[in-house]
Amino acid sequence: MSKTVSKPTEASKKPRRRPWRHPTQRGIKVPYAAAAAISLMEMGITDYDRIAAAVGLNAAEVERIDMAEDKAIRQLCLAGVPYGHYFTLEHQIRCPKCSGMITLAPCVACDAPSAWRPSMPDNVVPSAD
Ligand SMILES: [Zn+2]
Repeated sequence: MSKTVSKPTEASKKPRRRPWRHPTQRGIKVPYAAAAAISLMEMGITDYDRIAAAVGLNAAEVERIDMAEDKAIRQLCLAGVPYGHYFTLEHQIRCPKCSGMITLAPCVACDAPSAWRPSMPDNVVPSAD
């Protein structure tokens, strides 16, 4: 009956330390956290402290990203984060559009209009009739 938990969990790996590569423009490679920060900026969040806390950087690093001094970051800003690509955040942040707390950037609810309909899993049968 006893279950031995010995293998390390995937969650222990910090995703922000790994490089992130643009899926269609392979020449663009930036730190994961930088790409996530750009995604938040594209959502209209301008507060460096809030972005920094959400992606696991500090405000000065976010400011450097916003100024796009790095060539790869400048390329990503121009190319834009690809539609439908989401970044896992270190800490949740409030979406400026729907005011919801999100842990993925950009906001899934605001990104996809279809998400506005109440989610109804297939196995739940409405009680009517
Ligand atoms: Zn939203």
